[in-house]
This record gives sequence, C-alpha cells and structure tokens, in this order.
Amino acid sequence: MEGVTLEYDLLVTIPPHSGMDVVDDSKLGKGGWATTDPATLQHTEHSDIFVIGDTTNIPISKAGSTAHFESEAVIANITSLIKEGCWSRYYDGKVFCFVETGMDSGAYVWFNYTTPPNPGPPSQMIHRLKLAYNCLYWLSAKGLL
Ligand SMILES: Cc1cc2nc3c(=O)[nH]c(=O)nc-3n(C[C@H](O)[C@H](O)[C@H](O)COP(=O)(O)OP(=O)(O)OC[C@H]3O[C@@H](n4cnc5c(N)ncnc54)[C@H](O)[C@@H]3O)c2cc1C
Repeated sequence: MEGVTLEYDLLVTIPPHSGMDVVDDSKLGKGGWATTDPATLQHTEHSDIFVIGDTTNIPISKAGSTAHFESEAVIANITSLIKEGCWSRYYDGKVFCFVETGMDSGAYVWFNYTTPPNPGPPSQMIHRLKLAYNCLYWLSAKGLL
C-alpha cells in the first residue's frame, strides 16, 4: 500500500478492513458500515433497525465477543420496548476476549467505550480456562447446558 518492498520468510498480513457492498447498495451506510447509534445500537436513520456485529460503524473492535455483548443489549431493549414501551439498558461498548499468548499460555482483555484494553499477565491457567470456556460456550449455544 505504501510502495515499500520487504523481504520475508513467512508473511502474516491483514488486508485493509472494508464493509459489505450490500450496506451501501441498501443505503444503510457508507463504506460498507451501517451507521449505528453506539448506545442503542439502532440504525441512525431507521429506528426499527438494530445493528450488531462487524457491520456497525461504532468505535469498538470487530469481534465475535462484541457481537455477543451487543446482542444482549438489543434483546433486552426489544423485549422491554415491546412489553413496557421503554428502553432497559444501553450498550457501553463492553468486549471481553481471551488472547492466546503462546502454545500453553493465555491472557484476557476486557474494555468498553471509556476503559481501554489492559491485558493482565499471561498464564497457563487462563489458557486452560479459555479451552474450557470454548466448550461450555458452544454447549450452551446449542442448548445442551
Ligand atoms: C481469522 C479471524 C479470526 C478471528 N478470531 C476471533 C476471536 O478469536 N475472537 C473473536 O471474538 N472474534 C474473532 N474474529 C472476529 C469474528 O469472527 C467476527 O467479529 C464475527 O464473526 C462477526 O460476526 P457477524 O455476525 O457480525 O459477521 P459474520 O460472522 O461475518 O457474518 C456475516 C454473514 O453475512 C453473510 N452475508 C454477507 N453478505 C450477505 C448478503 N448480501 N446476503 C446475505 N448474507 C450475506 C456472510 O456470508 C456471513 O455469513 C475473527 C475473525 C477472523 C477473520
């Protein structure tokens, strides 16, 4: 991108992020990102559309964990809007992720709109906790727990 040539043995590279054409084609956003209210996760121009996951334009990381915590806020709000006609909570930008730091060690980070990520020291215990969490998460998602 910058016209620089580098020599390498193994290249691990990440292409520039871009959104989906379908968002622009549907006039729901710009550059493939749907314009989203960071607190309510409503589309900024269509109040009956809620947006979660990678397609939002909110200033938070694109991660499965982000979509997970966003969905909790959206589900709570759709339920309370239908039942009581009011909002029950705002999304505060919460994300929690495990980070593998080696073959047998891991750490975790959590952050939100106002608190930047601050990973703790890696350990084998956190790595094992992550492996267990993976199993529990998918068993729970399949309704087996
Ligand atoms: C290599 C890699 C590693 C990652 N590791 C992690 C991790 O360790 N932890 C973590 O939390 N996150 C991780 N992520 C990020 C995570 O995968 C995404 O943030 C998450 O999947 C976003 O979910 P989503 O539902 O918003 O979008 P997606 O999972 O991308 O789902 C969008 C869906 O829409 C479909 N679609 C697109 N266009 C159309 C259309 N026109 N009509 C119909 N369907 C359409 C796509 O096919 C896709 O199935 C990783 C991502 C990558 C690429």
